[in-house]
Amino acid sequence: MEVSSRVQKISPSLTLALDSKAKALAQKGEDIVNFTSGEPDFDTPEHIKAAAMGSLDANFTRYTPSAGIPELRMAICEKLKKDNALDYSPEQINVSCGAKHACINVILATVDPGDEVIIPAPYWVSYPEMVKIAGAEPVIVPTSFENGYKITPKQFEEAMTPKTKMIIINSPSNPTGSIYSKEELEGIAHVALEEDILILSDEIYEKLVYDDLTHFSIASLSKEVYELTFTVNGFSKTYAMTGWRLGYSASPLWAAKQIASLQSHMTSNPTSFAQKGALAAYKGPQDCVENMVEEYKKRRAYIMKILSDIEKISFVPPQGTFYVYVNISKTGMNSSDFAQKLLEEEKVAVVPGVAFGDDQSIRLSYATSMERIKTGLDRFCRFIE
Ligand code: PLP
Repeated sequence: MEVSSRVQKISPSLTLALDSKAKALAQKGEDIVNFTSGEPDFDTPEHIKAAAMGSLDANFTRYTPSAGIPELRMAICEKLKKDNALDYSPEQINVSCGAKHACINVILATVDPGDEVIIPAPYWVSYPEMVKIAGAEPVIVPTSFENGYKITPKQFEEAMTPKTKMIIINSPSNPTGSIYSKEELEGIAHVALEEDILILSDEIYEKLVYDDLTHFSIASLSKEVYELTFTVNGFSKTYAMTGWRLGYSASPLWAAKQIASLQSHMTSNPTSFAQKGALAAYKGPQDCVENMVEEYKKRRAYIMKILSDIEKISFVPPQGTFYVYVNISKTGMNSSDFAQKLLEEEKVAVVPGVAFGDDQSIRLSYATSMERIKTGLDRFCRFIE
């Protein structure tokens, strides 16, 4: 017997696998500094947990509407209006089990077998696999260090074929931390509009931005762009809620119903009491987010200062997220060898760029304490020297 050709084509998430490996080694007593983590090291803020616990006490434990509870969908609309200048009605919002689930919902609801989806590399590990699950072809477009790892309108145009259905834009980007400016997004949108290419805009890191930069939502450029764009966001990174599994998509009306319908057959609904927590996250005080961002800022500044002094590596200063993406090509090693040797020799775990479609770099996550960052970077410097 054989598993389906669909799953034969996909690989497991390398980032999750590495994180588990590092955690397993640490559990065995090894002094591992884990720079692989894709999740905040902070606890979920108290008022969010209290809202979820209160809803459990009130027996809010049954199925909810498939696309999410009305008050959360409304709160998401208010957030999108206030923060992103986007007008959506609750029926356009589909609350899902994480932004990851929101992405695959959108892809499955819009992309047909044989279609092509343009994915700029380095990319978040799951995009190509999701496209393959839909039976479509990921078309990987390598970007350059010099352009801050962002796809240009020209590259987008050149990658296009009659089969192109969608482009995926992730800003701020995992793994590079790059942010597309409004002008850069205008360039991308211009090309998409010419050929009616859909845009999946993954904005999960929108609140983790630095240097007084602001995040811009591509769907807010014009009514025409809005009609082509699916905006994905969630609670994991902003509110330290990775285990809660809550995200959402905001879709043009022409697709919203089908996305909810697809989800209704896959998960029925996102977890009832987790939705109450998410509601508290959006309705409650936001100083918890500011405090986390302040801490990330300090860590980012420290890492950049240390890394800048190492001759054999280079990096584009990350504008957002909690990652630094480091080019290690001058060490003469590819990313997997580098990551493996670093783990074996110095007990420092990083994610090799090959997981993101680029074998010349590694990703360091600073979603870990300053103390561990210092220890890890001391070892990192020793390893390179
Ligand atoms: N999109 C990007 C770019 C991510 O890095 C991640 C998580 O690592 C997700 C989506 C998924 O987030 P969630 O926990 O909401 O599913």
